[in-house]
Amino acid sequence: MNKRTFLKLCSAAVSSRILSPIIAWSSGNRLTNWAGNFEYSTAKQHSANSVKDIQEFVRKQTKFKVLGTRHCFNKIADSTSEFLSLKGMDRPVALDPDARTVTIESGMTYGQLCPYLDNQGWALHNLASLPHISVAGACSTATHGSGEKNGNLPTAVSALEMVNAAGEIVQLSRSGDGEMFRAAVVGLGALGVITKITLNIQPRFTMKQYVYEDLPLSELKDHFDAIESAAYSVSLFTDWQRNRINEVWLKIRMQDKPEFNGPAEFFGAKRATKNLHPIADLSAENCTEQMGVPGTWYERLPHFRMGFTPSAGKELQSEYFVPRKNAVDAILAVERLRDQVGPHLLISEIRTIAADDLWMSPCHNQPSVSIHFTWKQDWPAVRRLLPLIERELEFFRVRPHWGKLFTISPATLHARYERLPQFVEMCQKYDPHGKFRNEFLNTNIFRTKSMA
Ligand SMILES: Cc1cc2nc3c(=O)[nH]c(=O)nc-3n(C[C@H](O)[C@H](O)[C@H](O)COP(=O)(O)OP(=O)(O)OC[C@H]3O[C@@H](n4cnc5c(N)ncnc54)[C@H](O)[C@@H]3O)c2cc1C
Repeated sequence: MNKRTFLKLCSAAVSSRILSPIIAWSSGNRLTNWAGNFEYSTAKQHSANSVKDIQEFVRKQTKFKVLGTRHCFNKIADSTSEFLSLKGMDRPVALDPDARTVTIESGMTYGQLCPYLDNQGWALHNLASLPHISVAGACSTATHGSGEKNGNLPTAVSALEMVNAAGEIVQLSRSGDGEMFRAAVVGLGALGVITKITLNIQPRFTMKQYVYEDLPLSELKDHFDAIESAAYSVSLFTDWQRNRINEVWLKIRMQDKPEFNGPAEFFGAKRATKNLHPIADLSAENCTEQMGVPGTWYERLPHFRMGFTPSAGKELQSEYFVPRKNAVDAILAVERLRDQVGPHLLISEIRTIAADDLWMSPCHNQPSVSIHFTWKQDWPAVRRLLPLIERELEFFRVRPHWGKLFTISPATLHARYERLPQFVEMCQKYDPHGKFRNEFLNTNIFRTKSMA
């Protein structure tokens, strides 16, 4: 990239209200997010190995952010001062078979947790498309998988421990702390440093995954509910071209549908004859096993395998949640933008998520459908497109994914999260001087630039 292009990107970024993905300059001490589209404002990192370490660090700092596995595409995790890494705190703390819970240190990733649980005979209810992300980072941004009866990943949290801005330990549980707990689970990194998380678990289960190609859009329109209820988790991948869903991924829990053997046809789509990547041109080697081969839950629920690059790598992502009842209308609204979207898109994914009671979850009180976009890494083009998509979906009071790229205004966000004023009060209680705040939070949640 020449200097002129870089300066142009910078000025576009500065004029953006919410984010500034800058193409990463790959060398030296620079610290970028996973996709490399964004360079953090500092590369200074402190690693903590115990809760005591964390408390000491928190007491000394006036401003910092916890960094998870860096998989967000926007500036939600950014810090201009210093990062706290909990990578070294990645152990299970307790598994309680009677309570059906596991407690872990918060630096642990799903890729570390799932084999541990499976070995002990246990499972989580759902997973995202990839296991590489930290449990704390994923829950803080309301990360989700698919399945109309499955809440997003933070709905599995039953208790958490965090260190507040004064360096004090705070413990919150679903059974004991009601409102405060529901505020804190999807906390956007604004309430404190999460040190331990307790998750609900269930006995391990076996799954099969089938992929179907070329589902006509007319079938989706007429049979959306039947398609979505056909499996424990359903993902629809489309490039919005040629009136079709390119790939339908059905993840079947064998105990739910022991008789399901992947018929040759599914609502006009044809069963794939080999493993596929959601982006058809890419190798399926990176993907979890398909073709109806039985396997354990954590090797079927994500699309991508641990130890391999998930998705495309060099990409951008956006995702929007609409009420489930508006699913078909919202999908058709995006399809109308196919000519504008097509040239910049790698693939889109449509998923369903059950309603929850977590204040800052995009699925708060609302069974939802999410429409996701994996974009080519061309921020100026994507930045022009997002407002078009957001306008098409405005009628459905669309909410964006907290960890992905969007241009919805802070005022609109506030209008769409009824508990946001109370969330701000809760943040003021745990962090009165804005130690955990950054530009993203100040702009979108606190609506002030002054504390950045
Ligand atoms: C290839 C790819 C695929 C993806 N697939 C999905 C998907 O299927 N579904 C979906 O919903 N999302 C998906 N995402 C988005 C991803 O799940 C979220 O961005 C998630 O937040 C990533 O977790 P992280 O640990 O990398 O978070 P980071 O980006 O490191 O941090 C996110 C936020 O969490 C905070 N945080 C992290 N740890 C702590 C802690 N211990 N205490 C307090 N705050 C903390 C950070 O400060 C920051 O605010 C995908 C992203 C990529 C790159």
